[in-house]
Amino acid sequence: MNIHEYQAKELLAKHGIAVPAGHAALSVEEAVEAAKKLPGPLYVVKAQIHAGGRGKGKFKELDADAKGGVRLAHSLDDVRKDAGEMLGNTLVTVQTGDDGKQVNRLYVTDGVDIAEEYYLSMLVDRASGQVAMIVSTEGGMDIEEVAHHTPEKIATITIDPAQGFMPHHGRAVAFALKLDGDLNKQAQKLSKQLYEAFMAMDCEMLEINPLVETKDGQLLVLDTKMSFDGNALFRHKDIAGLRDETEEDPAEVEASEYDLAYIKLDGNIGCMVNGAGLAMATMDIIKLNGAFPANFLDVGGGATTEKVTAAFKIILKDPAVEGILVNIFGGIMKCDVIANGIVQAAKDVNLSVPLVVRLEGTNVQAGKEILESSGLPIVSADDLGDAAKKIVAEVKKAA
Ligand code: GDP
Ligand code: MG
Repeated sequence: MNIHEYQAKELLAKHGIAVPAGHAALSVEEAVEAAKKLPGPLYVVKAQIHAGGRGKGKFKELDADAKGGVRLAHSLDDVRKDAGEMLGNTLVTVQTGDDGKQVNRLYVTDGVDIAEEYYLSMLVDRASGQVAMIVSTEGGMDIEEVAHHTPEKIATITIDPAQGFMPHHGRAVAFALKLDGDLNKQAQKLSKQLYEAFMAMDCEMLEINPLVETKDGQLLVLDTKMSFDGNALFRHKDIAGLRDETEEDPAEVEASEYDLAYIKLDGNIGCMVNGAGLAMATMDIIKLNGAFPANFLDVGGGATTEKVTAAFKIILKDPAVEGILVNIFGGIMKCDVIANGIVQAAKDVNLSVPLVVRLEGTNVQAGKEILESSGLPIVSADDLGDAAKKIVAEVKKAA
């Protein structure tokens, strides 16, 4: 789960980490009021969307040379003008895709005099089973370019969660950032605080870009992106409450209500599968047969009729879907139960696109008979390869 910058900074502040003062705003008036509470004379008006690259982003509705989604404002009038240009408009950044994201919320912060911009991020590194802290002297807006052209300027420090953050980790971070004296000490302290906040909140990723050195010699978190491990949210009710569903794909939000793992993709073949591994294999085999999956959808182990119906409805809401492939292994769930679910769901949604079903596992014969005797134009398949071939052929035939 992702959250907004202003929420992430509030969480970091609760962990004793220094961030610039700021207030969120939903309207131009609120933005001006927010600025009035800050010392001035420099304010920063920041679009709050779940995507980075806002500074270099462009608003669809504004001229190409208009300023982006992070603006320095030198007066309350500038704050008013910038807020008015941003709210309600669509910001396109390298991370939003071409459609961009509508800006519904701003964050007005105290402007900082920057001496240097650094980069620091942390993520769960599955390969090492540790937390990787990634730092670079080249912070700011183009970290992807740095990683591409000058990877030697990026240092990775791994921290064993069983051991925790040791003083040598802090020294390695400060050394990689080439900091001396008091700044070196600040970097050691801050990296430890960040690691501890990361662990305490079950973060998946925490990125600070830029981490700045101010003109008066303080290290400060200027921008942050934070995401959380969805499986750990049950023990962080406060964080779960920060979810902003308006930032998510509506179909993905609906799917999560039914405990379905759904991700929309660009193809035309809808997939309904149980188990993430089988779902991945199904997507691969569709591609192997020359078509593209319209989604990833894992209905999980206990695929009830209710879940299968919800899954069908979600898949069919995507206008690009021209056929559906159901690939279910009846292990925990028996094939005849699943077949009944599929038949019921297909009737409920008034299925209008070709449907190929591949069932395997317990009671598979009974399951196939239910599909056949349903009177619905369901095409039965014997194995994965057969299923993929059949759905691709059916979609071609219908086109
Ligand atoms: P992003 O573009 O979405 O990563 O948004 P950031 O919050 O990182 O802002 C982009 C850039 O705006 C930063 O790299 C800074 O150069 C600049 N910026 C942001 N806040 C301030 C500030 O308080 N003072 C100054 N001088 N520049 C800022
Ligand atoms: Mg940034």
